[in-house]
Amino acid sequence: MSQTGDQFKKIIAHCKEYGYIFQSSEVYDGLAAVYDYGPYGAELKNNIKAYWWKAMVHANENIVGIDSAIFMHPKIWKASGHVDAFNDPLIDNKDSKKRYRADTLIEEYVEKKLTAKIEKEVAKAAKRFGDSFDREQFVSTNPRVVANVEKRKKVMDRFTAAMANNDMAELKQIIIDAEISDPISGTKNWTDVRQFNLMFSTQMSNIAGSEDDSKLYLRPETAQGIFVNFLNVQKTTRQKLPFGIAQIGKAFRNEIVARQFIFRMKEFEQMEMQFFVAPGTEMKWYEHWKAERLKWHHQVTPNEKLRYHDHDNLAHYANAAVDIEFEFPFGFKELEGIHSRTDFDLRSHQELSGRKLQYFDNEKNESYVPYVVETSIGVDRMFLSVISNAFKEEEVPDAKGGTSTRTVLNIHPALAPVKVAVLPLLKKDGLPEASRAIMDELKYDLNCFYEDKDTIGKRYRRQDAVGTPFCITIDHQTLEDDTVTLRDRDSMKQERINKNALLDKVKAATSMINLIKA
Ligand code: ATP
Repeated sequence: MSQTGDQFKKIIAHCKEYGYIFQSSEVYDGLAAVYDYGPYGAELKNNIKAYWWKAMVHANENIVGIDSAIFMHPKIWKASGHVDAFNDPLIDNKDSKKRYRADTLIEEYVEKKLTAKIEKEVAKAAKRFGDSFDREQFVSTNPRVVANVEKRKKVMDRFTAAMANNDMAELKQIIIDAEISDPISGTKNWTDVRQFNLMFSTQMSNIAGSEDDSKLYLRPETAQGIFVNFLNVQKTTRQKLPFGIAQIGKAFRNEIVARQFIFRMKEFEQMEMQFFVAPGTEMKWYEHWKAERLKWHHQVTPNEKLRYHDHDNLAHYANAAVDIEFEFPFGFKELEGIHSRTDFDLRSHQELSGRKLQYFDNEKNESYVPYVVETSIGVDRMFLSVISNAFKEEEVPDAKGGTSTRTVLNIHPALAPVKVAVLPLLKKDGLPEASRAIMDELKYDLNCFYEDKDTIGKRYRRQDAVGTPFCITIDHQTLEDDTVTLRDRDSMKQERINKNALLDKVKAATSMINLIKA
């Protein structure tokens, strides 16, 4: 097992051991790619959602939030293009019997084989030439690099065309020509590539105006609930363009190749915002949201773990698209997508429903279908990024003068599930009662945890592993002078402070306002 694979396994085990995430239906041997959030997981998830909602809806006067239903009229998915085009191209290896997304196999080949080779040569040369290194000149003249750049371009051109033309035979041919082998069996014994629609369907009786009687889809994205409510929201809130509608909710995709814990699930949650703008201004707003969303991530995630990745293949609705990628334990992968969706969705709904979905622009004195810039992030992927970034195993001094390993989740205090643990040093001498009194002062403002079992050292370690930013210890001195010790999770330093100062201090250090106002 590679080091990164090892780390990922540890994170998954940690999530289970500390009540963050459980396999769904575990007592029945589990349901693949479906997960349940435990007590700490539910708190962290709620905090992530609150951080997004406050930053997007509350902090922006021109963004409002909605909560639309999961069930929607089936024609919505016809108009949006999901019935015809929401497919993954799948290919099986006949020897390992494993199934892969053909597009992912090709993209990984390009990234790992061609781009990596080019970058290796460039890095070598940069080192050799030092300050006088001219990357552009080197890339356009070094024969090995030129050959690989040319090869990459050829593959990408074929790939882009095959995806655009829905040409499954060509996708397979690219895999054959590039000699891509299955990472498990090591063979190139592939089946044909087939399109597989990702929407789950169910039944509902009496759906008015439906072509296919009673077939209903579970929504694969929350965005369409926003589009079909565009005019309802605009009229009732009297918003003027540009303005946004945000929503957080469940989405469902029948992901066949789902092997990365909560990174790719069949039931997941999205936080999406559609920003409606005048046609022609969409690129300005696309750049604006690209920068704003990265800033939101930077508040809780180190810069070097985040990067932009421009799309090579644009979805059928987009004229520009970028991903914000996070360095997960298995490499840089999409965390959030920012798309310029043109007027595709509103126009399609207008055509299929026969209802006008236009905005009357007072200044221009005309009606038009607005353009849309979308920001779309998975709550669960954000959760995984927070946990993977926070999980650390550290060597720390122990009580006997040696060192020991502590496992700590240094989750940003504003997102941490529990803000403060209230711990009587001993379970006697009135210390539990004094602790409960402090707990009663704090618990309506802060999520607190009380524990009086085990030694104080063990309790600190447990709180470190859960990610609690502060521990308050109540000892005999507390009974004399009302002071307690306040221990900081990251530095492990303790300070003695008056119990009346606790609420303000911990509230200030764990407040989400710090993240949003900054
Ligand atoms: P991918 O290429 O990884 O399949 P996507 O481009 O299809 O993702 P979008 O349709 O843009 O994803 O969805 C927006 C966001 O929703 C993604 O950035 C991701 O955070 C989240 N998301 C999408 N699919 C899943 C899934 N199966 N499980 C968890 N989160 C998901």
